[in-house]
Amino acid sequence: MPNGPRGESSVPGFETLAIHAGQDPDPATGAVVPPIYQTSTFKQDGVGGLRGGLEYSRTANPTRTALEECLAALEASTRAGTRALALASGMAAEDCLIRTVCSPGDRVIIPDDAYGGTYRLFAAVLARWGLDYVPVHLPDVTAVRRCLAERPARILWVETPTNPQLGIADIAALSGAAHEAGAMLVVDNTFASPRLQRPMELGADVVVHSTTKYLGGHSDVIGGALVTADADVAERAAYLRNATGGVPGPFDSWLTLRGIRTLAVRMDRHCDSAARVAEMLGRHPAVTQVLYPGLPSHPGHAVAAKQMTGFGGMVSFRVRGGEEAAVALCGRTRLFTLGESLGGVESLIEHPGRMTHASAAGSPLEVSADLVRLSVGLEDVGDLLDDLNQALC
Ligand SMILES: *Cc1c(COP(=O)(O)O)cnc(C)c1O
Repeated sequence: MPNGPRGESSVPGFETLAIHAGQDPDPATGAVVPPIYQTSTFKQDGVGGLRGGLEYSRTANPTRTALEECLAALEASTRAGTRALALASGMAAEDCLIRTVCSPGDRVIIPDDAYGGTYRLFAAVLARWGLDYVPVHLPDVTAVRRCLAERPARILWVETPTNPQLGIADIAALSGAAHEAGAMLVVDNTFASPRLQRPMELGADVVVHSTTKYLGGHSDVIGGALVTADADVAERAAYLRNATGGVPGPFDSWLTLRGIRTLAVRMDRHCDSAARVAEMLGRHPAVTQVLYPGLPSHPGHAVAAKQMTGFGGMVSFRVRGGEEAAVALCGRTRLFTLGESLGGVESLIEHPGRMTHASAAGSPLEVSADLVRLSVGLEDVGDLLDDLNQALC
């Protein structure tokens, strides 16, 4: 972006930042697209004579830095000093943040319908490291306050909308509750992306992303990110990332940044098509419940309407006939590809109980067996509706 002081009113719009933040033409060649600096190390002009502070690509790489500057601008264009750190995956970002902020013995409040991988990180990995975690139903702010009052927590971990049940948590209300109790508010913003929701403007201290999903947007790269305006957290997380090494490579960083340039137009279409799909499913006799925050019947609809600028591209629903019917349906779609992950241009279908959330089986986070999750892609929406209709028959 152009250098020099800018008044708040002149902060460029989201679409402009997505295409230009961190992406000035290459000073050496004028290349319009930031080059893939596919190098592990950088020549020094005499011992310790670093060019632009560059030393070794685990510590910093210009392609990764371009991605980070763009992510920071998208999450909080009006919050000074915001910094983003790119990591090798969403899970690497979560792990890096938690071990930056917490010490063994600390407690973290997590959503009672958190992403299965997040739950597994706490239950199977960080619990052994001495971290205490407690699942709470986050839409119930009173329950969260009670839990914080019982015993201090280091982090209140929020995911909204949740994966796969599309639960909605009130970020501003939870930020108040967390801060009064001395806890840090972390929001996993993967499902909304910064196009639809900016948690830092609602009081979040740190935003976590799986950039694998909507930010990358093309199902061709794994990545994660942390975004924060807390300089101390950013500094310590950068130290830990360099010390433990969970960095994305230059090409992965480049692919993610390439995806981000079209985030705004993609998200807008994902939202429109998902709304059409949710509406159709709601009328279908084989469907017993549709979970989509855009539907007025969704318990989190009012909060979602307040804190999001669109309801997203994810739709979950429960089918008549239980697990057998749900699993069979996942095998009958032709355009919706059966597979894990989400947020790409192509539509995906999956059975969370047996696939993405299998690691939560038998836990308080177990999902119902008749649940099916859709990532509504960018194909012709009429074709998507036809496909679901023939599969539901
Ligand atoms: C996919 C996902 C993650 C994990 O990200 P990876 O890039 O797969 O490591 C974390 N949170 C949510 C909500 C996700 O959907």
